[in-house]
Amino acid sequence: MIEVNAKSVFSGIAIGRIKFFNKEENVIKRESIDNTDAEIHRYEEAKEKAIEQLNSLYEAAVVKVGEENAEIFNVHAMMLEDEDYEDSVKNIITTQSVNAEYAVATTGDNFAEMFANMNDEYFKARSADVKDISERLVRILSGKEEDANLTEPVILLAEDLAPSETVQMDKSKLLAFVTKYGSANSHTAILARTMAIPALIQADISKDYEGLMGIVDGFEGKLIIDPTMSVFETYQKKKEEEDNKKLLLQELKGKENVTKSGKKINLYANIGNPGDLAGVLANDAGGIGLFRSEFLYLESDTYPSEEQQFEAYKKVLETMGSKKVIIRTLDIGADKQVDYFGLDKEENPALGYRAIRICLTKPEIFRTQLRALYRASAFGNLAIMYPMIISLDEVKEIKEISKSVREELISEGVRIGEVEEGIMIETPAAAIMSEELAREVDFFSIGTNDLTQYTLAIDRQNEKLDRFYDAHHPAILKLIKMVVDNGHKAGIWTGICGELGADLSLTETFVNMGVDELSVSAGCVLPIRKIIREME
Ligand code: PEP
Ligand code: MG
Repeated sequence: MIEVNAKSVFSGIAIGRIKFFNKEENVIKRESIDNTDAEIHRYEEAKEKAIEQLNSLYEAAVVKVGEENAEIFNVHAMMLEDEDYEDSVKNIITTQSVNAEYAVATTGDNFAEMFANMNDEYFKARSADVKDISERLVRILSGKEEDANLTEPVILLAEDLAPSETVQMDKSKLLAFVTKYGSANSHTAILARTMAIPALIQADISKDYEGLMGIVDGFEGKLIIDPTMSVFETYQKKKEEEDNKKLLLQELKGKENVTKSGKKINLYANIGNPGDLAGVLANDAGGIGLFRSEFLYLESDTYPSEEQQFEAYKKVLETMGSKKVIIRTLDIGADKQVDYFGLDKEENPALGYRAIRICLTKPEIFRTQLRALYRASAFGNLAIMYPMIISLDEVKEIKEISKSVREELISEGVRIGEVEEGIMIETPAAAIMSEELAREVDFFSIGTNDLTQYTLAIDRQNEKLDRFYDAHHPAILKLIKMVVDNGHKAGIWTGICGELGADLSLTETFVNMGVDELSVSAGCVLPIRKIIREME
C-alpha cells in the first residue's frame, strides 16, 4: 500500500481502478512501411470494424435518444465509405510508404480543415465528424479500443489536464481526478467541482499505478494505492456514511434559502455545458448563475456555429423553464486555449488577450454568439453576462453591438424575450468603478477567481504561489462589500459566481453583507442551503 499526500480541490471519497491519462498516447507516429499492400489491407479491415461499431452504436442510441439523434452514427458510417477520404488514405500509404495510422490521421486533419473553411454551415459542422471517424480508425488500428471504451469508471491520474481535455471526458466514467500539477482555481479544478467528483492536485504520482486499486480521500487530500483490506473496508464505510449524508441533504430540496430571521438569498449553479443540467436539477438549484459558454468552444474543433450555440442555449433555457439562466459570453484566452482561434503566445496570458477583449476585437465571433443567445431568449428566462470588464466604455460598446444584433434579428422577424444584461466584476478596475458601472447594467456577478488573482497579483494557475494565495484576504472581502453596496445603491442585484461563493465558512458573511445570489457548483447548493437555514 502506498499513500500520497496531495491538495484537495473537491471533497468526497472515490474507490476504484486507477487509469493514467497519457497525452503521448494520442500522438501518432509516422513509420516507414515496406509492404504497403498489407498496410492498405489493415486499413480496410479497420474500416469494416469501425462501420460495425457504428452500426451497433446506432442501434443502442435509437433506443436511448431516438432515431433523429442516433442518425449521427449513420452519417459517420457513410463518411467512412466516402471515396475521396478512402483515396486519400490509400494514396498517402502508397506514395509515402507510411503506416495506416499516420495516413488516416493526416487525411482526417486535411479533410477537417477543408470542411472548417467552407461557407456552408452544414459542411462546417462535418469538420468535427471527420476528425471523429479518423480517431475511431486510429484507435482500432493501434489496438487502443479497450482504453477508449472503458466500461468501468476509473480514478484518473494525470500530470496535468487542460480544460479542453477535461471537458471532453465522459463524466460517467470518472470517479475522481488526481493531478501532479495544477492549482485550486484552475479551470480543471473548477470542472471537477462541477462534476461533483473528488479531486486532488499536486500529488506525486507515478505511471506504475496504472491498473491498481486506488482510493481518493478528498477530505484529507490523500491518494491511497493498493490499499490493505482493512484500509479498504474503512474507506468503504466512510463512503457509505458520505452517501448517507448526501441523502439527508436531499430533504432540503424544495425548501427556501432563508435564515430564521427571514433573510433570503438565491442559490444558483455554475455549469459548463448542457450535460451539467442533470446535476443542477438533482441538487435543486434555483437557476443557472454562470454558464461558461466558452466550454462549447473548448469542446469543439472549430468555431461552434450560430445554430449549434442556439441549440445548446435553447436546451438549457427550456430545461430550466421559468428559472433564470445567466449565460456568460465567450471567455476564451489565458488558460482556456483553443487552437482554431490561432491566438499568439503571450508573455502574460492572464493579463492578455482574453474574454471580452477578443469579442470586441473580433465582432463577427461576438455577433454570432449574441444572435444565438437572443434567438434562444424566446425559450426561457435568459440573462446575458459579459466577462473581464474594466471600463464604462467597454460596457457602452457592448450595448451598441447587442442593440444592433437585436435590431437585426427583429428585422428578420425573430422573436426575442426579455433579457437582463449584466457584467462580471472580476477586475479591481470594475470593482472600483462599480458605482458608475451599476447605472449601466441590470446586475453584477462577482468573479472572485479572477478578482483575487488580479487584486493579489497572484497567477491563479501557479501552484508555487499557493502559500501566498489567501482567498479570504481582507482586500477581497472589502471589494465584495463595496460592489454589493454600489449595486444596491443603483437598485441592481449583486451575486457571486466565483469559487469563493461556495466557501461554506463565508456563507454567513455573504448573507450578512447583503449578497443577493450565490452561484456555485451544483453539489454545493444543498450544503449552503443548510447553513443559511440554520442562521439566525
Ligand atoms: C471568476 O473569475 O471568478 C469566474 C467565475 O470566471 P472564471 O473562473 O471562468 O474565470
Ligand atoms: Mg473569470
